[in-house]
Amino acid sequence: MTQQAQVLAARHQPLHDRPPLVLAHGAAILVLGMLAICAPFAVLLSTGRPPSGGPIWDFSMGLGFGALALAALQFALTGRLRWITHPFGADIVYLSHRYLSWGMVGLMLGHFALLYVFHQPALGVLNPLEARWELTAGRVALACFLVLIITSQFRKRLHLRHELWRVLHLTLALLGMLAGIAHVLGVGNLTNTPEKQLLWLGATLGFMAVLVHTHVIRPWWMNRNTWRVVSNTPERGDVHTLELAPEGQALRRWKPGQFAWLKVERSPYSLVEHPFTISTAPEQGPNLAFSIKPLGDHTEELIKTPVGARAYIDGPYGAFSVDRAAKAPGFVMIAGGVGITPLLSNLHALVARHDPRPVILIYGTPTWEDASFREELKAMKQRLDLTLVHVIDTPSDDWQGESGKIDRELLLRHLPADTRHWPHLLCGPGPMLDALRRDLADLGVPLRHIDYEIFELV
Ligand SMILES: Cc1cc2nc3c(=O)[nH]c(=O)nc-3n(C[C@H](O)[C@H](O)[C@H](O)COP(=O)(O)OP(=O)(O)OC[C@H]3O[C@@H](n4cnc5c(N)ncnc54)[C@H](O)[C@@H]3O)c2cc1C
Repeated sequence: MTQQAQVLAARHQPLHDRPPLVLAHGAAILVLGMLAICAPFAVLLSTGRPPSGGPIWDFSMGLGFGALALAALQFALTGRLRWITHPFGADIVYLSHRYLSWGMVGLMLGHFALLYVFHQPALGVLNPLEARWELTAGRVALACFLVLIITSQFRKRLHLRHELWRVLHLTLALLGMLAGIAHVLGVGNLTNTPEKQLLWLGATLGFMAVLVHTHVIRPWWMNRNTWRVVSNTPERGDVHTLELAPEGQALRRWKPGQFAWLKVERSPYSLVEHPFTISTAPEQGPNLAFSIKPLGDHTEELIKTPVGARAYIDGPYGAFSVDRAAKAPGFVMIAGGVGITPLLSNLHALVARHDPRPVILIYGTPTWEDASFREELKAMKQRLDLTLVHVIDTPSDDWQGESGKIDRELLLRHLPADTRHWPHLLCGPGPMLDALRRDLADLGVPLRHIDYEIFELV
């Protein structure tokens, strides 16, 4: 099992005492997803089955059908539909999208390979000028989805900028899906009854509706509810906090630790938008703060945002929140660098609610000067049962606290045995999270009590 798959498995179990309603909601989404994948087969088998071309032919058609159903499902997964992301968290939904996309391309390749090996004449000629259009459409769909998955998996190695990749991803997905549906409709033998035609019409309308919702309706709504940057404050550790005030409707029903997609001084329809945690808590009022560390060209630009700039917010998303463990006896929080932001938001919420439960925060930074918000955290100790452990990677000679990496021994020193069943909220660089997960599991913390926030969706 890969690291990400383990995280996925852990997240599919309840984090501590996730409310039953959220669990029921999650189960309903999973059942709906399964139904969406099975629907084409049910319709195929129950209404006017086309004449069989033999078991391999039928199996190959089944693979093609399944592939297209999975492709349509991907639009729902990535359409930022809150009723889908809410029970799982956005990162889990994106991870599922990644795995299901590999499955989809596998099914497509299987469909093509079986026909190529056992029914080659049915594939006709390759030259699009001479080939039947519907077969060319099938090849275009396969090529689009293959390029799409390769460019996504190897984006960094191919040195593809995130913005360019995003445009390419959307274009290929749209083209691939349209070509796939054209292929099914053109081949015809799987659309020979009104029920089947209705099914494919529904699938086409469904994925178009998600696209319109994400790229037209939502930006239109954001355009009517703009935000204004009211301050830009430099923090320790090269972080800048942008405070935004609503000019229209403020953010509603959000939880501490959630994130939003932020666009500053761009069109609300622009594809250039980046996810950032809201580092304040809902209880602190309608203004929102985003604490941003410059890690690339976009964030370098963002931290220079002037006061008065116009911004657009698409959110809230994510589920990295103390609210998912309402009855937990306490919390363990571990942050690395700018990974402190979602934990800060959660701590602000606990302070604002006068929450009496104990919290242990272990916070690793390269140097003492890099420890963003350290004064704010220290002040929280007056109002919260907070044990704060700073861990400095390369400390100065006079540093008296913990130093080096956050490892098993350090965790043993600071986490008493009765914290093993508390929720553990972790956010930091990927390698740190991997090591922490292993160390915590080693100490006997069940995977389902370990929750991650991953700052890299792609
Ligand atoms: C849920 C979540 C919450 C986050 N919260 C914070 C926060 O509070 N503070 C903070 O400083 N950073 C946060 N980040 C990280 C932040 O989004 C990236 O650092 C930023 O997008 C990098 O963009 P760049 O162009 O400056 O750097 P690049 O060098 O272009 O990107 C660095 C990496 O960031 C990711 N990335 C880049 N662009 C995007 C995009 N448009 N959408 C998604 N991922 C992208 C990619 O994995 C990329 O490899 C968060 C990320 C996620 C997913």
